[in-house]
Amino acid sequence: MRIIIVGAGIGGSALALALEKFAARADIDYLLLEQAPALTEVGAGVQLSPNGVRILEWLGLGDDLARFAVEPGAHQLKDWQSGETVLQTPLRAVAQKTFGAPYYHAHRADLIDALATRLNPRRLRLNAKVVSVGQSGDKVGVALADGGRESGDVLIAADGIHSIVRNQLFNPEAPRPSGYLAWRGMVPADRAAHLGIEQQSVAVMGPRLSMVFYFVSGGRRINWIAIGAGHDDKRESWSQTASKADLQDSFAGWYGHPRGLVDLTEQLFVTALHDREPLPTWVDGRIALMGDAAHAMLPYHAQGAVQSIEDAWVLARCLEMGRDDPPAALLRYQALRKDRAQRLQRHSRNAERWYHLDDPDEIARRNARLAAHARNSGGGVTPQQAWLFSYDAEKAVLGTDDDWRALREW
Ligand SMILES: Cc1cc2nc3c(=O)[nH]c(=O)nc-3n(C[C@H](O)[C@H](O)[C@H](O)COP(=O)(O)OP(=O)(O)OC[C@H]3O[C@@H](n4cnc5c(N)ncnc54)[C@H](O)[C@@H]3O)c2cc1C
Repeated sequence: MRIIIVGAGIGGSALALALEKFAARADIDYLLLEQAPALTEVGAGVQLSPNGVRILEWLGLGDDLARFAVEPGAHQLKDWQSGETVLQTPLRAVAQKTFGAPYYHAHRADLIDALATRLNPRRLRLNAKVVSVGQSGDKVGVALADGGRESGDVLIAADGIHSIVRNQLFNPEAPRPSGYLAWRGMVPADRAAHLGIEQQSVAVMGPRLSMVFYFVSGGRRINWIAIGAGHDDKRESWSQTASKADLQDSFAGWYGHPRGLVDLTEQLFVTALHDREPLPTWVDGRIALMGDAAHAMLPYHAQGAVQSIEDAWVLARCLEMGRDDPPAALLRYQALRKDRAQRLQRHSRNAERWYHLDDPDEIARRNARLAAHARNSGGGVTPQQAWLFSYDAEKAVLGTDDDWRALREW
């Protein structure tokens, strides 16, 4: 079976590595097509929860992650004015013990490097922009911008939120602007030492503005992302720069860490946040969507990349086990993955309002609820974290993920 993968982002690369594991025993060949001239990533962080790290370890990245990623002690939700922790849930102490893999913070460039160095160069083609796709009988085909063509038995679109495959075959609607902008920056940890920031995963919730910050690069850098309401003409782009002065004004009145990180950042970037409506189907015959192409979501639960990694494992295993009937294998992948990923699309959209409450009474009620939760849970993980972290993609494929399925949905 020859599989064509469009897009070598985190999702497409993880799929290629998973297929590589099974290629020999299942007579699988694949071609990974990437439009960019090189596999690189922007200067930003990514949170990797145990449900994704477990798979990256299966793909051979365990030692790399242990070297360049950072394991935060806990997840903390903080009040914007006082910096007081409203809800703290443990990560380092429970992730490996309870969920079988660490919770990590990584620099995206480190993660992409680790994936890229493991890709089979004979099965990767750079500078290969797909401009159209199609299928006829039991074959799929793609046309490339340089005039080339490729054909195979299955096509997987891992081409991100602007997926040309999604637009062409599933839904041509543009991504939905959320009305929020995300600013981001990185600060060398030694320059921020005087702020006394601990190695935690911190989310600070203010009126119509929030900030998440954490250490990456083995603890040498602090990555931050601020999200605030904004209806101006900013594009969805990871390379658009922003002025520090604009954001400094927005953080007036906040406690010291968020303000200090913005002040210390040399170059700020800004992007407009978008997501997509959940799709009725991800599969059309021998063509399937995965990752952001299938389920682009807002970043509040830090699950977009992790969900693309879960997709990759399940998809590779479904194709391996169902190689005699690829359309049925793709439908099985969809049946295993769609509900979970679409639930996260919806929850991530709901979290936008909850994070950015403006009304003092509503803020007080939210914080009281979180404080009560902290008391009731006895300092353990939240039901939401348990539902996210305990998903085991291999058990899902084998139909033995009863423990996860029995957990309360949120
Ligand atoms: C501010 C922010 C913070 C986030 N933080 C987190 C986080 O902490 N944790 C987390 O899990 N997720 C996070 N995410 C989400 C995460 O970044 C995405 O969900 C993830 O990168 C999606 O991966 P992907 O491989 O599906 O798509 P992409 O990363 O978009 O990769 C698509 C690839 O396809 C290629 N491509 C596109 N079109 C073509 C074509 N026509 N031909 C050939 N190649 C093509 C592109 O060049 C690219 O390499 C965050 C997102 C944002 C906006």
